[in-house]
Formats: sequence, structure tokens, C-alpha cells
Amino acid sequence: MRQTYLDTPIEFLKGVGPQRADLLKNELGVFTFADLLHFYPFRYIDRSKFYTISEINPDLPYVQIRGYISDIQLHGQKRTTRMTASLKDETGTLELIWFRGFKWLKNQFKPGVEYIVFGKPLLYGKKFNVAHPEIEPVTPGAISQSSSMQPVYNSTEKLKSKGLDSKGIGKLLKTLLPLVADHIPETLPKNLLDQVKLMPGREALYHVHFPATSIDLKKSIARLKFEELFYIQLNLLRNKLMRNEKVKGHVFPSIGTYFNDFFHDQLAFELTAAQKRVLKEIRVDTLSGRQMNRLLQGDVGSGKTIVALMSMLMALDNGYQACLMAPTEILAFQHFESVSAMLKDMGIRIELLTGSTKSAHRKPILKGLIEGDVNILIGTHALIEDQVQFKSLGMVVIDEQHRFGVAQRARLWSKSEVPPHVLVMTATPIPRTLAMTLYGDLDVSVIDELPPGRKPIKTIHQYERNRLKVFGFIREEINKQRQVYVVYPLIQESEKLDLKDLTDGYESIVREFPAPRYGVSIVHGKMKPADKDYEMQRFVKGQTQIMVATTVIEVGIDVPNASVMVIESAERFGLSQLHQLRGRVGRGADQSYCILMSKDELSNDARKRLGVMVATNDGFRIAETDLQLRGPGDIQGTQQSGLPDLKIADLAKDEAILKFARQIARDLLEGDPHLAQPANIMVKKQLKALYHDRLFWSRIS
Ligand code: ADP
Ligand code: MG
Repeated sequence: MRQTYLDTPIEFLKGVGPQRADLLKNELGVFTFADLLHFYPFRYIDRSKFYTISEINPDLPYVQIRGYISDIQLHGQKRTTRMTASLKDETGTLELIWFRGFKWLKNQFKPGVEYIVFGKPLLYGKKFNVAHPEIEPVTPGAISQSSSMQPVYNSTEKLKSKGLDSKGIGKLLKTLLPLVADHIPETLPKNLLDQVKLMPGREALYHVHFPATSIDLKKSIARLKFEELFYIQLNLLRNKLMRNEKVKGHVFPSIGTYFNDFFHDQLAFELTAAQKRVLKEIRVDTLSGRQMNRLLQGDVGSGKTIVALMSMLMALDNGYQACLMAPTEILAFQHFESVSAMLKDMGIRIELLTGSTKSAHRKPILKGLIEGDVNILIGTHALIEDQVQFKSLGMVVIDEQHRFGVAQRARLWSKSEVPPHVLVMTATPIPRTLAMTLYGDLDVSVIDELPPGRKPIKTIHQYERNRLKVFGFIREEINKQRQVYVVYPLIQESEKLDLKDLTDGYESIVREFPAPRYGVSIVHGKMKPADKDYEMQRFVKGQTQIMVATTVIEVGIDVPNASVMVIESAERFGLSQLHQLRGRVGRGADQSYCILMSKDELSNDARKRLGVMVATNDGFRIAETDLQLRGPGDIQGTQQSGLPDLKIADLAKDEAILKFARQIARDLLEGDPHLAQPANIMVKKQLKALYHDRLFWSRIS
């Protein structure tokens, strides 16, 4: 890439130097002038608002007051000294307080002069005080300066120790902006700026750091958010367009014996309207001559597996192989069992390949794959290893896709010259804004309907102090021949402790539900796969009534007889994860229950979150709430899945801008798919600058 003035290393900015430059790089990722320019304030303090002293309340983070200063006094001795003064306006008196700088302060304030005082009010006893306030006399200049929004930058302890607190960073920007002003290129086409009425880029960058008025600030933020989201969407949509143009897909002209026999003879129930609709969408894709890249979203229990299975049969009917990839061994095994059962006596060879497949068994599978005798391969990550080669892979289904990183999907994709069709399934409903950002280049199908006859799961929040009651309830359910899950959180940082919680819990449950009357299984990630399997199987076969587990059971496991899901320390889980766990029950005809156990003392936030779980079974609503409460980084299904690092836009708040930006990007590509028109050359250039390294990212899923 061509170097520009904006690429100047940050140490060359006046006031930075090598030491501060290192800190800026390490702490904030600011390497160049451009990086600093795009290091936006994370909030603003409204200096245009003046409060009276009587208006001060504990909820105000900052106050700005006009008043007179008197009563300057020094208190205490040596180490404990402090200086106080009284600030008076017509409504009352406020104490100002300092712990250092007395000498200089003592003669600063003149009686009869009105000052502007700015700071954080703290309640001390029944009175407010402000420590180390900013003070300046009222002059026409001061008023106009303080009538602007004051930016607040994120900083760190290390930066602060070198004078780079929010103010210090602000100073650097004051130095930087005039230097670079003439070098800031416009990154959106003129006609777009006019059409959408956006602030030009240079102005926006100025006002985001030094807003003259709150209106300027609003406009600059809107412009920068739009730009950020616009380029993400443009990139996604353009990749999709290019893929459709360049990449061929297998054509499945016929619906044949496999599909029809299954549909007419094997399928034990009527497909839901949503399942039929999705199958039609897949059918259309596989006829189009383009590679299908489809995301299938459907709540737990909505019946995605049948759709996957029937899509694979479409491939088989046309002489292709298919594979189904699951995130865990347990899940792969369960898919293998259920798919084998559903397709039995149809002359289809189905094999299971996981990390623990012995090499004696592995060899014939690999041979069968390359020779085309294996029709369907089910497995885990093992499927993407290099030695796994297919004769003609036509359809790939990826279950619970968020467990797979982008790179892993890429390897699967590269297994054949004409890429297989890809159906990515997720049971984690993803909020619209995240879906548009993560999967904006995929087609999306939604199963928004549960099979008929399901009773909605009853969810109850119980406090630790009511544990005996919960045990009593579990006993009643087991007496009705039902089975029960008890799930413990397992969070990486405190793995040891969590594991102890789990084993303690297991022991107390075994005490409460002793053998031989009761059987208790235990499964966690630290167990050997064989042991895990053994314990799982005992529960699946009904030999044990209680399954104590970590979240390894979160995805996919299907035991229709299980009717109670107890989630321990539920306050520690994300909502989407709770929802996912809850989906493990309610699969049979019986009334099912989810009991969210929490400690007795909960924060407001935690109580609210558990309340949402109790209030609704709608996975999409839950995902939206999770996004609002926890922010995009914590949403399950988005970790390690390549959510872009947004500098200013917020996927929890900017849905409207996002949709709009996507629409504009779509319109632009419709008129000029190759961004070849003179007006769009700069767009193409910017796109390249932003996504140079990862232009082909999305080809892979
Ligand atoms: P998920 O979407 O969570 O993967 P599954 O595909 O495992 O859901 O389906 C959940 C259960 O519902 C399975 O036992 C499956 O056999 C059953 N099922 C799927 N579709 C239907 C349907 N149309 N009518 C009745 N039961 C169905
Ligand atoms: Mg499933």
C-alpha cells in the first residue's frame, strides 16, 4: 500500500516521543497518525449545561456550576492535610476540596469574582463536595469554551502515569488535527454524501474530537458510524456477488429415490411449514449453478436435523457425497446414531469419523470416501484433516457453526475444485444486527416454528435457600419416570474451582438420591472420551435418572424423556447459553421445567436477566435482550467468529444505521457491481485498504 502522511509513525508527533509512543502502541494499538485520528472519545461531557448547587444529586457524573469562592482553609497536619473552600451560588453552598497544590491554590481565588467550577460531585455524609475541580473565572471566552462537549478518551493506568490521561490524549489530538487536516481523504463518494446528507469525512473527524456544538457532534458520529457499517456491508455483499459470479456450484437436477423414499416411507411425521419452506430454498440454491452458502437459524428443537438430512439426500440423489460436521464427539456420535436410524435399510453407507476413531477403523473409511462408497460422513473437526478426501463432495452441513473458526471452514471448502454446497446450522438465535454483520454474505433461512404438540417449557428462578424444595421437585419428577439434568458453569479462568463445584454438587446429589434406588451420571470436559460416552449412554438409555454435567451437554443432546433442567449458578451464564441449555428438555410430550438456581443475593442486572428467561421462550427475543444487556462481544455464537472490531458503531444500538448502510451498499453494487464507475473508484480503493488481507474471507462458509 502507498504510504501517506497519515501513516507517519506516532512517535513523530510533537509531544509523543519514543516512550509514550511505545505505550500508545501497546496500550491502545495506536501506531500511526491515522490510528490516533481514529481513536474516538468513548463519551462526552456536556459542558454547555450549568447546574445550580441545589440541583446536584448523586446520579450526576459531573456538574458544572457558576459561583463565588470563599472560606479557603487548610486542615490537618502534614500527611493528612487538605484544603477546602466554599463555592456559593444563589441556591446553596458546595464544598471544594484539594489534597495537594495548596501553595499555588491559596492565592488563586479572588472574592467577588464569579467562577465556573467543574467536577464530579461526591456525597460525603449528607453534603456534596467536589474534589480537585476544574476552575476558571467567568469570562466571555470561558463561557463559549465551556459551552461545548468535552471528549473523554479511554486511557490506562500506564498511560496515565506518563501524562496520557483523557486530557493528555486530547492534547495530542489538538496537535495532530491541524497537521493532518489537509491529508484526510474523503472516503465516501460525493453523490452519496449529498444523497444521504452526511457530514464530509474531514469535518466529521474534526467534530468527533472537538465538537463545537452537540448538533455537530451528532452529525459527525452519524457519519462515522455510517461509514464504518457501510464498508463492512459493502465488503460482505461484494464478496457474495463476486462469489456468485466466479464460483460455480454443483447442480442437483433431480429429486430421486433417496429423497422420495425417505419422505414417503421413513419420515414419521409431517414436516412443519417452516421446514418445507427451507427445503424449497435449498432446492432452489442447488439448482442455480452457484454454490449455496446458507445459514439455517432455528431455535432448539425446531427440527433442523431433518432439514439437514434431507439436504444431504438431495446430494446423494445426484451422485454426490455429503458430510455433517458437529462441534463435539458426543454430538457427532448422536447425529450418527439418529441419522443411521432414520436412513436404515436404504442402502446408504454412513460413517462416523472423530478424533478418537482408531486407525484400523479409519483406513477403510478414508478409502471408502475417496472411492465414493461412503455416502455420508458424520464427524467432528477430524473431517477437515488433510487425509480426509472425498470422491465428490456435494453438500456440507455444519451444525452449531459458531464452534468452528473461519479458518477451519476454509479448509473444508477447499476440499474439491467445485466447492460443495454449504448449509450452516445454528441453534443460537443471533440478533439481526449481528447476523447481518457476521453472515451478511450468506443467505439466511429461518425455521420460526416448532413442531406441533410441544408444551412450552416452564421456567422457574429459585434461590439457593430453597434448594431442598428443588430436590423435592426433582424427586417427584423422577417418580414419574422422568429424567433430570443438573448443569454447572465451567468458565475457563476459574476452571479448577468450577470443577470442584461440579464434583461437590455431584456428591451432594448422590447423597440426596442414593443408589440403588437412583442412578446419577456425571460428564465434564476433563473426562476421557470413552468415560464420557459411557456416562452419556447410561443416561440416554435411562439407566441413570440424573445427569450432572458442565455445559458440554449444551448442544444437540437429545433425550426426550428428560423433563427437568436445573442450571446451577444460573446468574453466571449468558442468556443465550441459558436458553440453549433449556432447549435440552421439552423434547418429549411431557410438561418440562427449567429451574434456574442462583445465589441468594443477586445484582439488579442478574435478577433482570433471569427474569427475561422466566418470561419468554422465544430465542430471538432472548438473544436481542442479551445483546442489549451484555453487548456484542459476549453474545454466544459470536466469539471467535470474526465479529469486526468496531471503532464507533454499536451493534446493540445502531440497528437502524446498519440496515440503512446495508441498503445503500446494496444499491451501490446494483448500479455498479465492479465499482468501476469513476465516482466509485475511491470506494473500491477504500474497500481494498480496509479488507486487503481478508478479501476472500467469506468465500469459505
Ligand atoms: P434442532 O433444531 O434442535 O436440531 P432436532 O432436529 O433435533 O431439532 O428436532 C428436535 C426433535 O423434534 C427431534 O426429536 C425430531 O425428530 C423432532 N421433529 C423434527 N421435526 C418434526 C416435525 N415436523 N414434527 C414432529 N417432530 C419433529
Ligand atoms: Mg440439533
